[in-house]
Amino acid sequence: MHTRSAHRSLLVIGSVALDDIDGPFGLHKDLLGGSASFIARVASHFTKNVSVVAVIGDDFPRKHVDELTALGVDTSGIETKPGETFHWVGKYADDLATRETLDTRLGVFATFQPKLGQAHRDAEIVMLGNIDPVLQLDVLNQTKKPALVAVDTMNLWIDIKRPDLLKVLERSHLLMVNDEEARLLTKQPSLRRAASEILKMGPTSVIIKRGDAGAMLFYEGGVFAAPALPLSDVKDPTGAGDSFAGGLMGYLAYAGDLAPTTIRTAMMVGSVMGSFAVEQFSVDGIRDLSPARIQQRFEHMNELTHYERVKL
Ligand code: AMP
Repeated sequence: MHTRSAHRSLLVIGSVALDDIDGPFGLHKDLLGGSASFIARVASHFTKNVSVVAVIGDDFPRKHVDELTALGVDTSGIETKPGETFHWVGKYADDLATRETLDTRLGVFATFQPKLGQAHRDAEIVMLGNIDPVLQLDVLNQTKKPALVAVDTMNLWIDIKRPDLLKVLERSHLLMVNDEEARLLTKQPSLRRAASEILKMGPTSVIIKRGDAGAMLFYEGGVFAAPALPLSDVKDPTGAGDSFAGGLMGYLAYAGDLAPTTIRTAMMVGSVMGSFAVEQFSVDGIRDLSPARIQQRFEHMNELTHYERVKL
């Protein structure tokens, strides 16, 4: 991975879901959700070489898949099976910072056995979105030799599938988790120590996401922090982490190299894209985003992070 604008192929595996979201703005039912839905949609703004492997039930509105296809995403790996689509029910506290899972119905995901086609096996970059680590491993076993494997997970899998998750981590380069998950995984209260422990588990980089406090990248050569943009209106933080991942991975696929400077820039892209996601429910905040609107947020980010070097 050396040349710029190389548009490496990005394979995304994750959930495609219907979500019920409750919180200060009331209950919203049957919204499009799922890690893969956010990641692939956001990544498609940066590279046209994105494929999704996932499963949906026969209750899933076809228009959501069609929309993704219209964005240039290869949706041939989204299998339809008889039964219910993965369904997640979450409730946010009034500050929108904490949330509780009220229900998780695996539906067709419970018996999903991903079968990758030839093009998907050859993917150069693989994003294992948040799903059962057994499925993440299964996908990994079918890929040839991706240059970059990134993985996201959550407290549920750390609690009930730790050995499988550790196997996934052994074979991945980059882990993305939130602060609570990093602490749960390592039992270390300090994030810096938690990151060091994670780097011993396999990945060479770890990103710890902290909601509206931004995200931190830890790797052997250093640490980098990307702030979150201060927003006036936040409605639904669902998918913020996945949109961050979509921006980050889409940019890495576009840039074509994994130099620390590229990953730092990719963190900023992730942060900008996460900011759009939280302003509206479901994928509404990341729908119809023009390059000019995205660019404008980068300008805000530059303003937010620019300062003169201190010389004493
Ligand atoms: P995020 O807010 O970025 O952490 O991601 C939220 C999305 O994750 C929601 O749209 C859910 O459908 C999905 N999700 C929640 N729980 C799970 C789970 N156990 N496995 C896979 N996806 C999940």
